[in-house]
Amino acid sequence: MGAMEWSGGLAERPGRGRRVLVVGGGIAGLGAAQRLRAHPAFSQLRVLEATARAGGRIRSERGFGGVLELGAHWIHGPSRGNPVFELAAEHRLLREKDLSEENQRMETGGHVGLPSVTYASSGVSVSRELVVETASLFHSLIDQAREFVRGAAAPAPSVGEYVRGALRALAAGWTDREDARRLRLALMHNFLNVECCVSGTHSMDLVALAPFGEYTVLPGLDCTFPGGYQGLTNHIMASLPEDMIIFNKPVKTIHWNGSFQEAASPGETFPVLVECEDGGCFPAHHVIVTVPLGFLKEHVDTFFEPPLPTEKADAIRKLGFGTNNKIFLEFEEPFWEPGCQHIQVVWEDMSPLEDVASQLQDVWFKKLIGFWVLPSFESVHVLCGFIAGLESEFMETLTDEEVLLSLTQVLRRVTGNARLPAPRSVLRSRWHSAPYTRGSYSYVAVGSTGEDIDRLARPLPEDGAEAQLQILFAGEATHRTFYSTTHGALLSGWREADRLIALQDPQAQLPGPQL
Ligand SMILES: Cc1cc2nc3c(=O)[nH]c(=O)nc-3n(C[C@H](O)[C@H](O)[C@H](O)COP(=O)(O)OP(=O)(O)OC[C@H]3O[C@@H](n4cnc5c(N)ncnc54)[C@H](O)[C@@H]3O)c2cc1C
Repeated sequence: MGAMEWSGGLAERPGRGRRVLVVGGGIAGLGAAQRLRAHPAFSQLRVLEATARAGGRIRSERGFGGVLELGAHWIHGPSRGNPVFELAAEHRLLREKDLSEENQRMETGGHVGLPSVTYASSGVSVSRELVVETASLFHSLIDQAREFVRGAAAPAPSVGEYVRGALRALAAGWTDREDARRLRLALMHNFLNVECCVSGTHSMDLVALAPFGEYTVLPGLDCTFPGGYQGLTNHIMASLPEDMIIFNKPVKTIHWNGSFQEAASPGETFPVLVECEDGGCFPAHHVIVTVPLGFLKEHVDTFFEPPLPTEKADAIRKLGFGTNNKIFLEFEEPFWEPGCQHIQVVWEDMSPLEDVASQLQDVWFKKLIGFWVLPSFESVHVLCGFIAGLESEFMETLTDEEVLLSLTQVLRRVTGNARLPAPRSVLRSRWHSAPYTRGSYSYVAVGSTGEDIDRLARPLPEDGAEAQLQILFAGEATHRTFYSTTHGALLSGWREADRLIALQDPQAQLPGPQL
């Protein structure tokens, strides 16, 4: 290997403790760094971050007079025991009502709350009664899908096929008129699309049924950060020395099972060498890899040298990682009622029981599940739409003008108001195009199981080689029961930090929680 660098004074203390590199400055990487820094054996610690900012998929931006969350939105299951909730509470980042015991005790079953209003594509709003009844049926099917984790043979490979099979059987007994029956199915189609956003997948037909219930829902009514989710990662950052994170430092290849040296530490050898895209090289004893599964999938053949053991590479290929994006629309005046929190948009020509072959450019907007009304920022009124899957990835290729035009047409159509003023502007996330993310979050895909998550999380080398724990794996996709969440990511970073601490210092008292 060529040039080697270990700047920032650390090279002046060769042999003092273990040298650790964390790849990725999202909440998993920052959490790992914070935990390791508290232990004297890990004074030689660096975080290499590909982009110019920390936080990764926690990304709050100022926009439209307030804060817009381009990535993580809610704390899922905000209650004691959820480390993201606990940290946020400790740093006073939450509203009083979200801290209340009552909110913490709320059992939502992980289901998205009911919309305030449901608009249909013929320009009418759907009766509350029908929405409540259909949502309740849909949620019971999802609850049933979670039950197969207890051992009963799963009757279908995917959650989507299971739900559609159950629906087909139920629909055969419906005695509604044809238009009422269509509307019921259209609502079901929307709820399946909501579930695609929750799972970060193109279709629930891609989400494996048998392990679906392994994902664990914590109690608590999901809540947001009034000042932005990034306040949380900013707090962690503030506890780390300024020069610990090196920004704009994308890692290209991690060489492991080697014997690397550097001029500044004569006589010392390191089993790992991290090679960056700019040619810089960092030798280390241990590397904690926290890059998103989407990035790993794209670079699995070149990111590790020697290549990963087949089992681990296969786990990376098999696990799912899809796209969920947000589209923010800014309005001069709200067209929604005061107190409205969530607008659902239903397409009456869509049904989970029929496949319609269409060109993405003609139908992409039908995948949008609706809009959440953001708290109004002074005189600005903002809706946040959610869209998952291939349609979401297609949306990323359009211009702002094209997205704005399509969504104005959608809103005019569903509200039945052809003169509804167009939004003033649009802002959106593009997680699939982001080269160091390549999507939104992970799920257990058909053909994989929770065991693949554990395989991904297992450190290397797997055989009891002399240099232990050369590469450790953290990040949301490595947490078997909380994958796809910020708390899963944070816990995974702590888990790998604790693994290293336990290797160095078997007597160490490791702090909880270990969910
Ligand atoms: C649209 C959206 C909505 C979401 N909503 C929620 C929600 O409401 N609640 C919730 O709990 N979770 C939500 N999530 C998921 C949550 O944001 C993630 O699970 C969590 O932030 C992941 O943290 P992480 O540290 O594992 O990964 P990341 O935050 O992705 O951090 C990984 C870091 O690695 C860096 N990196 C990648 N490649 C390299 C490389 N080669 N070299 C160096 N650095 C590299 C990246 O730039 C990134 O900073 C959402 C995510 C998205 C995208």
